[in-house]
Amino acid sequence: MQSIWFDSTEYLIGGAWLKPNATLELGNPSTGEKLAEIARCGALEVDAAVAAAITAREGEWGRMTALERGRCLTRLGRIVETRIEELAHLEAADVGKPLTQARADAHALARYMEFYGGAADKVMGETIPYLDGHTVYTLREPHGVTAHIVPWNYPMQIIGRSVGAALAMGNACVLKPAEEACLTALAFARLAEEAGLPPGALNVVPGLGAEAGAALSSHEHVDHISFTGSVATGVKIQEAAAHKITPVTLELGGKSPQLVFDDADLDAALPFLVNAGVQNAGQTCSAASRILVQTGVFEDVKARMAEAYRALKVGPAEEDLSVGPLISARQKAIVEGFLNKIKPNQVVAAGILMDSAKGGHYVRPTLLSGVAPGDDLEQQEIFGPVQVIIPFETEEEGIRIANGTQYGLVAGVWTRDGARQMRLARALRAGQVFLNNYGAGGGVELPFGGVGHSGHGREKGFEALYGFSTLKTVAAHHG
Ligand code: NAD
Repeated sequence: MQSIWFDSTEYLIGGAWLKPNATLELGNPSTGEKLAEIARCGALEVDAAVAAAITAREGEWGRMTALERGRCLTRLGRIVETRIEELAHLEAADVGKPLTQARADAHALARYMEFYGGAADKVMGETIPYLDGHTVYTLREPHGVTAHIVPWNYPMQIIGRSVGAALAMGNACVLKPAEEACLTALAFARLAEEAGLPPGALNVVPGLGAEAGAALSSHEHVDHISFTGSVATGVKIQEAAAHKITPVTLELGGKSPQLVFDDADLDAALPFLVNAGVQNAGQTCSAASRILVQTGVFEDVKARMAEAYRALKVGPAEEDLSVGPLISARQKAIVEGFLNKIKPNQVVAAGILMDSAKGGHYVRPTLLSGVAPGDDLEQQEIFGPVQVIIPFETEEEGIRIANGTQYGLVAGVWTRDGARQMRLARALRAGQVFLNNYGAGGGVELPFGGVGHSGHGREKGFEALYGFSTLKTVAAHHG
């Protein structure tokens, strides 16, 4: 394994790795012990990072052609591909996710760089028919300085999708990773230097949300904010941005449904039904935490899911079992708060805590039934490995329950009826609908984002390049 050597307490501004005045402790979710220290940046460091980003935009980074930016990102993707194992072990230790998932996230990071590297010089404007004697065309321009406030559940994937697209469009980025999981953000920035990303194009300021995060989202020279995380913090960020009319992209999670109809291929559906609930210990914005099943197959699906749940093994990330720990004692307390409300007869099945699951923040994955639409367990994002299975009679009832929360991020539909697939794809209130599959966020190429309390704006795919740029219309009168 190659080694990415770095001092985790350093932060990055304008190409310089700096020592902080204060630090924060990162915990290891698998053991509950201290893992590392990171910088506790505040308003001063954020101010310096934004200034460095502005300088980068006015200097080497701003002068690069789209082709050169793309090549830089493509090189970075190749470098990430050579460091998969090391990044995966860092992410597994920091987030507590099983190694297989951590490896998949590292590959996704490389793939984002490859995708946005290739896309950088393919974003084009239009010519628009207008009055006689005029020529009108549009230009896609970077916002300038973009802020990226990232959560702890999928650091590599979320940095890849947001920083990758922003850099491709020529923005200079200030990245504020989560205080709970920060190591791959720092490693990624080291690799970006190796790929030749000019100083200041990417600045990294770890710290607390209320300090570095708040300073960044209210900074007068930040031109766009991309945020993934909780609704409560999303509201604060949108409020801070409103004072400067700064555009924001918010991805705030969900309570996503998968609907299983009587005619579905249950063998094909089963792994997607369970995995989309327990992947990353349920700490996934697009987790399918509600499984809605038509009455004709309800008992069958419940029995099959119960069997799968009873085989789920929970333990430390490095053991690479089905489910790892939750990120923190705080997150465990949130999830247990929900589990404490459950009546014993609502538990269909639960996973196995291995002997090695000690010291860390472990909970048993739990499948529930007897939960009525409208109940807290059916409405609130638990952000832990807990799924509810709910019966429905008709297509209309299934749609009503599916659309009956404040969220709308992802939905899945399992049916062999093609006409029903088309009706459901339109009727479901979600940013993504999966027909006979479920992507838990989907691929790098697929635009992703929500409606309602799930947020607004789209990341991933080519669409993200529009979000990380602004459109200028040029109208020339030449007679
Ligand atoms: P959070 O939204 O508070 O944190 C996410 C990021 O926002 C972190 O980088 C944090 O430092 C930053 N932040 C926090 N307060 C801020 C502020 N005032 N201004 C600017 N930035 C700020 O999430 P959390 O407290 O870590 O988790 C709580 C709940 O959020 C979870 O239980 C879950 O429901 C939800 N969550 C959702 C996602 C998602 O992918 N949508 C990810 C993480 C957490």
